Amino acid sequence: MGFDFCSFSSGSNGNCYLIKTEDAAILIDAGISGKRVWEGLQHTDTNPETLRALLITHEHSDHIGGLASVMKKGTGLKVYANKETWRAIGPAANAIAEERIHHFVTGDCFTVGDISVKTFAVSHDAAEPVGYTLRCQGRQISVVTDTGCVNAEITEEIRDANLLVLESNHDEDMLKYGKYPHFLKKRVLGDAGHLSNIAAGGVILDLLTYERKKRRVLLAHLSRENNFPEMAMQTIRNILEEHGYHTGADVYLETVPRSEIGLLYAI
Ligand SMILES: [Zn+2]
Ligand SMILES: [Zn+2]
Repeated sequence: MGFDFCSFSSGSNGNCYLIKTEDAAILIDAGISGKRVWEGLQHTDTNPETLRALLITHEHSDHIGGLASVMKKGTGLKVYANKETWRAIGPAANAIAEERIHHFVTGDCFTVGDISVKTFAVSHDAAEPVGYTLRCQGRQISVVTDTGCVNAEITEEIRDANLLVLESNHDEDMLKYGKYPHFLKKRVLGDAGHLSNIAAGGVILDLLTYERKKRRVLLAHLSRENNFPEMAMQTIRNILEEHGYHTGADVYLETVPRSEIGLLYAI
């Protein structure tokens, strides 16, 4: 029985990830339209009737822009968010019937079909942003994007992941010398902004130091203005090699595409 992951879209143009077993399918974020989500379901051979939960990380529009249309198309779908995030979403949240909303407290665990979900706080300039760890039959997928830093608490939540979806948002020099206005550079670089390629490399290094087991890490939420997939990959490869770790041998490292449907990974 499979525990699968697929990215439908990742980055400022919209975020949406699919995690599924034969029994239950879960979406993380709805930053794209219901139509595009359904194309993703078809592409990954996912029966829309198994779609049970939409987990929201935070209220920024690249994560909730398609909330209303996804909820309209997925009639059996329940949306999961903490109260502060739900309040911050505003009008799009008010249109959804109360019985289709599950409010959790950050740190809570709950189950969706045969998948157990753990929520944990991340560091981002939103009302109450979270990351997710999903477990099924001893396997683990963790998703951490939109966080300015990865502290010890977050590391604890993700260190056993067989598949880690990790933000690798920007190259610091491209951002610093690029055309973003000063306030935005400051925001992205801050502890409540986005994770740089170097910081993502540090996170992966920490995980390998904790336990030298082979994980798959998918670099996500790459900036169009301040990053390239090759640059993210090479920066992280360099950091790992400096410490005697090699991609392919110690960790499988890939990027997820920004706007197309990515590969389907069986975990
Ligand atoms: Zn955000
Ligand atoms: Zn985002």
